[in-house]
Amino acid sequence: MCGIVGFTGTKQAAPILLDGLSKLEYRGYDSAGIAVRDGEKETEIIKEKGKLKVLQEMTDYGKAVKGCCGIGHTRWATHGEPSAVNAHPHATDDQNVIAVHNGIIENYQELREKLMKHGYTFKSQTDTEVAVKLIDYYYKKYSGLPVESIARAMVRIRGSYALCIMFKDYPGEIYCARKDSPMIIGIADGGAYVASDVPAILKYTRNVYYIGNMEIAQLKDGAVKFFTIDSEEIQKPLTEIKWDAESAEKGGFAHFMIKEIHEQPKVIRDTINSVVKDGIVHFDSVSLTDEEMQNIEQVYIVACGSAYHVGMALQYVIENLTTLQVRVELASEFRYRKMTLNKKSLVVVISQSGETADTLAALREAKDQGIKTLGIVNVVGSSIAREADNVFYTLAGPEISVATTKAYSCQLVAGYLLAMQFAKARNEIDEEKYQALLAEIYSIPEKIEKILEDDKERLQWYSAKLINVGDAFFIGRGIDYAIGMEGSLKLKEISYIHSEAYAAGELKHGPISLIEEGTIVISVLTQDLLTEKTVSNMVEVKSRGAKLMAVTTVGNYFLEDTAEFTCYVPKINPLFAGSLSVIPLQLLSYYVSIGKGFDVDKPRNLAKSVTVE
Ligand code: GLU
Repeated sequence: MCGIVGFTGTKQAAPILLDGLSKLEYRGYDSAGIAVRDGEKETEIIKEKGKLKVLQEMTDYGKAVKGCCGIGHTRWATHGEPSAVNAHPHATDDQNVIAVHNGIIENYQELREKLMKHGYTFKSQTDTEVAVKLIDYYYKKYSGLPVESIARAMVRIRGSYALCIMFKDYPGEIYCARKDSPMIIGIADGGAYVASDVPAILKYTRNVYYIGNMEIAQLKDGAVKFFTIDSEEIQKPLTEIKWDAESAEKGGFAHFMIKEIHEQPKVIRDTINSVVKDGIVHFDSVSLTDEEMQNIEQVYIVACGSAYHVGMALQYVIENLTTLQVRVELASEFRYRKMTLNKKSLVVVISQSGETADTLAALREAKDQGIKTLGIVNVVGSSIAREADNVFYTLAGPEISVATTKAYSCQLVAGYLLAMQFAKARNEIDEEKYQALLAEIYSIPEKIEKILEDDKERLQWYSAKLINVGDAFFIGRGIDYAIGMEGSLKLKEISYIHSEAYAAGELKHGPISLIEEGTIVISVLTQDLLTEKTVSNMVEVKSRGAKLMAVTTVGNYFLEDTAEFTCYVPKINPLFAGSLSVIPLQLLSYYVSIGKGFDVDKPRNLAKSVTVE
């Protein structure tokens, strides 16, 4: 999820690796490391927790490490806390295989057990070390040929990876393999470069090869060869990178926010696959047992900002699938309330950074009262992750834009899976419904891809109409209300338009007095049973001059009679519709913000992680 750089050629590798990694620093990470080899000598591995600066100082900016072949890595932990031991590169005890890895090996536990039966031991908690030792196992068992050993390992590994590997018997050579994680290879001045992202090697070359999914590459003597998983050599075209350094950081997108909006299908898929195996949700990694889930009577979801809106949506999902009582609380309020918590409850705290001050305080408060806690967190090893009794890690990867999109979406999906697991453990769902709903959850990434393909241009066009408005209202019922809250927050935080979300039924109890000619009202309508009611509210505000936009499910074409602009999302079980209806709202806010010329990734007065009260 973070950064990889590799070089082999006639120049010293370490300064190139450190320089390349520094170009990926903007993404944020928790540890860094390099492995460099001088001819046939032993490879030197240096790695440390913390910023790249630590590694730069340890190696005198690379000058202290000799050798013309090496690989480097910055880590965004997914498996095991940030520490020197868990930092990459990882190696076999005899240094036969040394590698760096971006991504997630989903079946690492099963592979680890298999390798342990063959005498392998493990130093780190990472999934990466398992991949390294699996390659070593095949290398020693069969051919002693790098490409073939990597290919055998690739057949066994489930998950996503960009791997750069060095073999003891092949000095001066780097091998690469990739599946669903980016990696590019460049050739320049008799040297070969590999990187997970363009900025790392832009200084050296603009001519790159894209290594395809399930392909292997060999970097040697300033040249690169590509192989299929059947070890057959293939030819690849050279592509010229036309981006400047700044757009390269954003993967060719204009801003991090839009890049992260587009990353949602992938990171949601990763989050689902981290707990769903063979059609069943497994909570081993979360370490919440079925028995514990059976004994819980009450769930408190405690969070701030967008994570609170996740909680708002989840309460409807959990209440629908189980008989549990659910309350959603703002962490900043919860922590000071004199509430007697039901001893048989679970406090679920949600935070991207795992450092949100109020959420952390709420977690501690719950623990003080002896209540079981679960953190839904994106950053491995963060305070909430360390202190909560159970942790469900979202796999959104580093989120740079201050306005959250991909972390929010992963939290929502993590919550659906929690609800499903509760329902199953408590025997409150039959197998048929369970499988049907799981299939619906699986369909979310693909449906988001479709929204991103179909709706972007129309939303960009419509956003122009919002640029000069002073006020906007979002309305909806049930889950649609919760999504409206997030849509409203997105709009106000990056476009500085005053915006409020109301439960549609509340309009008549006050807010309707604010509706005047031209006021924008955005309605979310994905909950079939509630749609007609919300349409009535739309008609009421329209007759008072409001301009209406609707986000609804494909097929609800009758809404075009009422709304001036309608955006359709694919059909899905209404429980999970929020994951789709939020996407047009994210896009709309983004386009309004850039239309107004604002710094969309760094909105005024806001910080990414709120570590103060
Ligand atoms: N899953 C690996 C780890 O936790 C790689 C993480 C990354 O992509 O940085 O070490």
